[in-house]
Amino acid sequence: MGHEHKHSVLSGEPEADEEQEKESPLRPRLLSEFQGQAAIKDNLSVFIRAARNRGEALDHIFISGPPGLGKTTLAGIVANEMNAELVMTSAPALDKAKDLAGLLTTLKDHSIFFIDEIHRLKPAIEEMLYIAMEDFELDFVIGQGAGARTVRIPIPPFTLAGATTKPGRVSSPLYTRFGITLRIDFYPVEELCEIIQRSAGILNIRIDDPASRLLAMCARGTPRVANRLLRRLRDFCQVDGRPQIDEELTRKAFQRLQIDEAGLEHQDREILRAIIEKYHGGPVGVETLAIAVGESADSLEDFYEPYLVQAGFLQRTARGRLATPRAYSHLGIPLVHSENTLF
Ligand code: ADP
Repeated sequence: MGHEHKHSVLSGEPEADEEQEKESPLRPRLLSEFQGQAAIKDNLSVFIRAARNRGEALDHIFISGPPGLGKTTLAGIVANEMNAELVMTSAPALDKAKDLAGLLTTLKDHSIFFIDEIHRLKPAIEEMLYIAMEDFELDFVIGQGAGARTVRIPIPPFTLAGATTKPGRVSSPLYTRFGITLRIDFYPVEELCEIIQRSAGILNIRIDDPASRLLAMCARGTPRVANRLLRRLRDFCQVDGRPQIDEELTRKAFQRLQIDEAGLEHQDREILRAIIEKYHGGPVGVETLAIAVGESADSLEDFYEPYLVQAGFLQRTARGRLATPRAYSHLGIPLVHSENTLF
C-alpha cells in the first residue's frame, strides 16, 4: 500500500496496483490456505474460535515482520474467518484526525480495521486511536475557539490489525494496547516450496521439484518474492516453449535477472560492495550508506537489510552497518585487504 519508496523488482514491496491485482488470486483467503508459520496459525486459530464462540470482536492484533511475508494476508484471513468486514488504510494516509474519525465511524460490529505501517502514525491520530481501541469511543471536537466542545461518540466493537516492518518504532502506549502480537519471520525453504507449488497450481503452471527448490532458495525467505519470480519463470518457460519449469531454465532465468545463488540481486551486491570498498567494511551509518547506493534510508532498512542480515551478509550495530566475512567471500574480495579489524 501507498509506499513512496524506490525499490527493485525483487524487494518485497508491490510495484504498483497492477502487481497487487495480479497477486490477488494467489493470496490465501483462509487460515488453512496460509502456508507455513505453524505457531502463528495455531495460536490465531484458537483466538479466532474463542472470540467467535463468545460472539465478541477479536482482540486487537499487532503484526510485525519484513515486507511480503503475509501481514496484509493475515489481516484478510482474520476478517474472513471472523465473517467480518475488512477496512484497510495505512498510517501515512491518516493525515488529519478527521481522516481516522471518518473511517472509524464506518466500522461495523467486529470489523477488522487494518492500518499498515502503524509506526508512522502522527501523535494526534495515535491519541484518538487509544480511546477507540480501549473504550470503542471517539472524541469529536465540535465548533471552534471558545465555543468548541468535545463529544464522545460510541463506535462498534472492532478489531484493530496494525502492521509494521519496524516494530521498534511503535510507541509503547500503542503497542501495549494490542492483545495479540504476531511476529512473522522469513520462511524456510521447505515452506516456500509449498507456497510455490500452491501458486503454480493456481496459475496453472508446472514446475518440477528441483526447480521449485532452487526458486525457494533464491526467494529471500519471502512469499511475495517467490510468487513474483515464479511469474518471471513462467514467462521464460512460455517463450522457450517448454512444457514445465525445470532447474536448467530456472538457472538461466536467474542469470539473466542477475540473481545469484544466495538470492541476492544486483542492488544487494552493490550495497555490500559499497560498505566494503568505500567504507572499509564498515561500520557506516545507514544514511551515508543509503546515499552511496542511491536508495532512501527507509528502503534500505525495510527492503534490503532484513534479508542481508538474516542471510549473514550484514550486521547492524549501534555504530552502523558492517559487512561480514561472508559478504567478502560472496563478492570474491579478500578479507585481508580490508582495514576492518572487527573480524
Ligand atoms: P505484507 O503485508 O507482509 O507485505 P502480503 O500479505 O501482502 O505481505 O503477502 C504478499 C503475498 O505473498 C500475498 O499476496 C500472498 O500471495 C503471498 N503470501 C504471503 N504469505 C503467504 C503464506 N503464508 N502462504 C501463501 N502465500 C503467502
